[in-house]
Amino acid sequence: MISFYPGPSQLYSQIPAFAAQAFSEGILSLNHRSSEFSELYKQTEHLLKVKLQIPEDYRLFFTSSATECWEIIAQSLIERSSFHIYNGAFGEKWYHYSRKLKPAAGLHFAPEKPLPNDEIVSEADVYCITQNETSNGTQISKEYLKHIKNKATKKLIAIDATSSLGGILLDFKLGDIWFASVQKCLGLPAGLGLLICSPTALEKADRISESDHYNSLGFLNQNREKFQTSYTPNVLGIFLLKKVLEMIPDINKTHEHIKNRANKLYHFFAGSEQVKPLTSDTNLRSDTVLCLKGNPDLIEHIKTECRDQGLLLGNGYGNLVKDTLRIANFPALSDSCFEQLTTTLKHFL
Ligand SMILES: *Cc1c(COP(=O)(O)O)cnc(C)c1O
Repeated sequence: MISFYPGPSQLYSQIPAFAAQAFSEGILSLNHRSSEFSELYKQTEHLLKVKLQIPEDYRLFFTSSATECWEIIAQSLIERSSFHIYNGAFGEKWYHYSRKLKPAAGLHFAPEKPLPNDEIVSEADVYCITQNETSNGTQISKEYLKHIKNKATKKLIAIDATSSLGGILLDFKLGDIWFASVQKCLGLPAGLGLLICSPTALEKADRISESDHYNSLGFLNQNREKFQTSYTPNVLGIFLLKKVLEMIPDINKTHEHIKNRANKLYHFFAGSEQVKPLTSDTNLRSDTVLCLKGNPDLIEHIKTECRDQGLLLGNGYGNLVKDTLRIANFPALSDSCFEQLTTTLKHFL
């Protein structure tokens, strides 16, 4: 089965060999206070920065998931309140989780409408943006992130890049806090989250000095000084991440490949009367997750037929479950997988 699910997603085919290597080299029993673990952390952070073009002075923290990152941001970085600009289910979930811990305001925008402009002024000290909305296949452009940064001077900008980090080139300078989990664009098994913080974010965490949790950011940062973690981490996940980072090309190359493939796929669906991208705004369409809308019966039929051919398509998410399907355009999927998919889809479109 080839999985086009946007997370957990198709793994790199090398994962079984890497996992076997981790076992035979004793990585799976590695003590997380050992120098070998510190070396693994250090190398993985270094590789992530080099391959994804993350500024040298940013720091990487390991978490269990992107969801955990939502909480860490709320507990350790929000002083007054957060401001969430979102158009889909993940952005909304983040807003709701954050609101349980700290005051929060939300600005919802419809995927078919122009992005909010003057309304993005807030008293909040942390702005929260979902760069790639996995639920509806939309993304926020670099230009819009710049626009937000200009409006939100002296505020922290936190960016959920769970389903784009590793797939497209991100301008990390435009945000102070970035996070993702590895089961999307990085083609790895679930169970590891990546939290990436700028020096400004870490200074603020220091100043707020919130220390009530095992995953308080200040505590994570103290441990990071020694390239350690605050609890026994997912060492296998970290090792697999390192191996994948060694293997993948520079993000510029991946970016071009993913963009081209996204364009081809959108072009392919443009020829269909019955199945169309959820949003008609080409600037808003995601490169890494396609969300396609159609008659619920047809959507169901396409998914069933594809599954019979060994091609697993993603269900719609939340209230979009019936009339949309999703296709991950992640780097671990080869071009030939997409050729197979479009050949099969041609029969219905
Ligand atoms: C998948 C996803 C999450 C949740 O990731 P977990 O690893 O399950 O916590 C959060 N935000 C976005 C945009 C996602 O795609």
